Amino acid sequence: MVKKGLLRFVSFPGDVIGYFALFFIWLFLGEMSKLKLDFWVCLKPETWFVRTLYKKYRGTAFCHGGILFVSKEQEALVVKHESVHVEQFEVIQLFCFFGFLVSLGVSVFSHSHYPWIFSLAFWSLSWLLVNLSSAIVALLRDENPYRGSSLEEAAYAIVDEYTRKKEGNVSRGIK
Ligand SMILES: [Zn+2]
Repeated sequence: MVKKGLLRFVSFPGDVIGYFALFFIWLFLGEMSKLKLDFWVCLKPETWFVRTLYKKYRGTAFCHGGILFVSKEQEALVVKHESVHVEQFEVIQLFCFFGFLVSLGVSVFSHSHYPWIFSLAFWSLSWLLVNLSSAIVALLRDENPYRGSSLEEAAYAIVDEYTRKKEGNVSRGIK
């Protein structure tokens, strides 16, 4: 509980931005997920967003919450995949928290508010910036900006391993 609380504390700026965006998505495009997760919004299939921009995707982590567009059968896999992104989000938030502490020191010594204000803004938008950077790096390596992103490679690797283990269990059951 304390450890979870600590992770929430260091993720606070990123969560504020993520939940703010999710609130509007929930309001216009979805409904609360019934899964026992954080603030996850299930997109309504009839909305223009799902029919156009989001039709190839099944879930996106915004912070500790996100959006889902899955069938009952896909649910477990997609939640596994998104939980990797939540972990990545927490790593980035903790990293930015350390940066914020340094910026506070710089602010005190330089008698200026700018360092900590800049650092707070950077911390709040870090998840977006890291995802964007990961896509750019993938492009520069001549890979697909989505599937080549190292953040996605990690999330898909966990899902593949989970599927392999499940299939292994099934075949063991048959024998
Ligand atoms: Zn992903």
